[in-house]
Amino acid sequence: MSDYSTVLPEKATHRQTRTFNQQLVLRALYDDSPLSRADLARLTGLTRTSVSDLVGSLIDDGLIEEVGRGRSSGGKSPILLRVAPEGRLLIGLDLADSQFSGAVVNLRGDILRSMQLPLEGLDGDAAVELVFRLVDALRAGDRSPLLGIGIGAPGVIDTRSGTVRWSVNLEWADLPLGPLVESRYGVPVVVANDSHAAALAELTFYRRPRPNNLIVIKVGRGVGAGVILNGQLFQGDGYGAGEFGHVSPAHGGAPCRCGREGCLETRASMRALIDAARTVEPTITDEIGLAAAFHAGVTGVRQIVLDAARELGSAVGWLIGVLNVRHVLLVGPVAALGEDWLAEVRRSALSSVLGLLAQDTQIEFGHVHDDVVVLGASALLMEQQLGLGLAR
Ligand SMILES: [Zn+2]
Repeated sequence: MSDYSTVLPEKATHRQTRTFNQQLVLRALYDDSPLSRADLARLTGLTRTSVSDLVGSLIDDGLIEEVGRGRSSGGKSPILLRVAPEGRLLIGLDLADSQFSGAVVNLRGDILRSMQLPLEGLDGDAAVELVFRLVDALRAGDRSPLLGIGIGAPGVIDTRSGTVRWSVNLEWADLPLGPLVESRYGVPVVVANDSHAAALAELTFYRRPRPNNLIVIKVGRGVGAGVILNGQLFQGDGYGAGEFGHVSPAHGGAPCRCGREGCLETRASMRALIDAARTVEPTITDEIGLAAAFHAGVTGVRQIVLDAARELGSAVGWLIGVLNVRHVLLVGPVAALGEDWLAEVRRSALSSVLGLLAQDTQIEFGHVHDDVVVLGASALLMEQQLGLGLAR
């Protein structure tokens, strides 16, 4: 168990104090439940009376619930509490792939139902309409209390204002996506870059204990990283942190969708691998075909995939050299390529950095389900609305 007592801002009003203390209780329960009221008092540093009062109103609000009794240490056995998984529902969207995916998610990150709508080359306003259709369909007939909508989208996203500054795939530039969705549905909306969202999903739902620092690299249609530093998502000065898929180590090379040439994405993304593999094996048209040919040992395909893994690996080595982050996770459709691909990325990354850093760096697959962006967008919403999720 960890210590949840934190410092309250000076000159806090009564209401601020109460909200702050409520978040302490909620956070402690979210990370370590089930807990008794006595456990909560010890962990948060609040008095037993305050804890009972806060717990009472959180139960009334549907956010926490009693889950039986714990072991007695002499007197009456204590009632145990936890965050009510369905106390609020969230809608998470992933707009980073060739189809838009969405899901209704509970506070534990369980997916209650999900849906996909094919993008079919839509962009601009038509793609915004598709976002509305997806949310309408997910909302249909459901009256559960909705905490809000979290959106993971490709490109450079200003999460503060919910603006897509630039998304090459969708032809969105300075699009106020967050405000548009918010005014249509009347609930809070957050928008984040898809790789940033993936990093939040890993941090919030799958990593125990939570690492302070974490790099999550998403390889799918594109290549991007989400960087967690000191328990917080690091977005950079212009929200573009982790856009290393558009770094071109050597000038020149194949044209990239971003308008430049030779970006890492033109060689190491799944899209690039499928295109390259098709030149030796014309039947390969998608990720499944690529992975099957790779696993079957088709000579040319194996070479193409492993060369790309090495190239990605040296870029990962640069990240490790700059940040000295010990946990590096790879997520997204690329997980279909399996351990052979990962081993090559790892070998290449670790052989390109100082031995001292390499020896305690772990490069692994993350929680690779297709839902990682949906869950990450939900995690960001939970953090903003309830103070849950991110490291203390
Ligand atoms: Zn590029």
